[in-house]
Formats: sequence, structure tokens, C-alpha cells
Amino acid sequence: MNEINPTPTVEDYLGVIYTLDRDGESIIGAKLSELLEVSAPTVTVTLKRMVRDQWITMDEKKEIHLTKKGSDAAISIIRKHMLSEWMLSRILNVPWSQVHEEAHKMEHSISSDVAEKMKERLDDPKLCPHGNPFPGFETMTQNWHPLLDMEQGEHFIIRRIHEFGEEDQELMSFLQEHNVLPEQTGFVKEKLTFNETFTLQIDQATVTLGFKTAKLIFVERIKS
Ligand SMILES: [Zn+2]
Ligand SMILES: [Zn+2]
Repeated sequence: MNEINPTPTVEDYLGVIYTLDRDGESIIGAKLSELLEVSAPTVTVTLKRMVRDQWITMDEKKEIHLTKKGSDAAISIIRKHMLSEWMLSRILNVPWSQVHEEAHKMEHSISSDVAEKMKERLDDPKLCPHGNPFPGFETMTQNWHPLLDMEQGEHFIIRRIHEFGEEDQELMSFLQEHNVLPEQTGFVKEKLTFNETFTLQIDQATVTLGFKTAKLIFVERIKS
């Protein structure tokens, strides 16, 4: 066996590719460049290496697909990331808005054995602290809709902040500060399409979010 473990960089790419693929999006280098905040030439070089090492394949349209080996490695790193988030929040009481960033630093150094122990200690979670599904549990989120689809006056329970929202530290701090958190209930006080804003009422307070953010927040509709 000449199996090589993915480097932290490759693990980051694999995680993002897995998430885009899960969401049914086509995956090209430019999208990775934007999401990973690295230059297009750097992405090209890394993707070439990943093809060589059989983590991914690229078709004639330059679309990226995970190989079985790539998919297995992506699932492993995402699980380690999400378990780290729970460990940080539940055991170490790290604030919700910070656990993603901290977990991102830890995830690359956790062995499969330790990940297994974390899973047991944390009661085998199916969603991360931001409501995103562990690989294999995607159906748990199927009744949740982007906040963007909600209309004025509709009531909801916040369920999930998409992985790509977790990446934005400023956004995460803002959401925590304004109680825009999983399990919170609220309603759409105002939706201004021309202005591309939502004003939500949550816990006696109001908060205004742009449509861009509303795409990353998933809610479950409830009857008022
Ligand atoms: Zn995260
Ligand atoms: Zn998370």
C-alpha cells in the first residue's frame, strides 16, 4: 500500500468540494478560489496535484469530482471538524461564534481513534453546533428552507447556518450577539425586496439582515 494522507491544504479543499457537491452545485476552480480565498493560479496548481494523487478527477468541462478515496477523506475531515466544534462548545465552553474557527485549526491533527472517542463522549451528534449535517445525515435538514424564501409575517424556528456562513467571523459574531441561533424562534417583521433586507423579530428584539445572509440561514416554518 502506498496510501498517502491528505495534507491540511488538501483536506480543506476536499471539505469545500464535498459541501458544494452535497448542495448539488457544479464545482470549478474559480468557485474554490473564492471560497478558500486563494489565488486562481494557486488553486490550479493544487488541483493538479489532487488529480495526480487521485483525490479528485476533472472532466472536459473542468468540473471537479471527488474520487471514492477523496470522498472518504472529505467525510473524515468534516466529521473531525464537527466533533471538534462540539467539544469546544460543550466541554470547553468556547462561544458558539468562535468554535468553527478554532475547530478548523484542530481538525487536521485528530486521529481516527480519537475522533471515535470524541463521538462517544459527545453522544454521537448528527448536526454540528450550527445545524449543519454530519456526512450521511443530510436528510435531517430536508424540511428546512433558506430564510430568503420566507415572507413577511411568517414565523419560524432557526435551524441552521450554512457552512459557508460559518467561515465569516464577523457574521458569526453578529448572529450570536443578536440571538440568530439554532433553536431560536421568531418571525419576519419586514421583508423589503427592493432593499434586499429582512427585519426579524427574535426575543423581543429586532435584527436586520441582507438577502445574502438570508440565503445562508435555514429555518423551519411554524404556524403562528
Ligand atoms: Zn464549522
Ligand atoms: Zn458547524
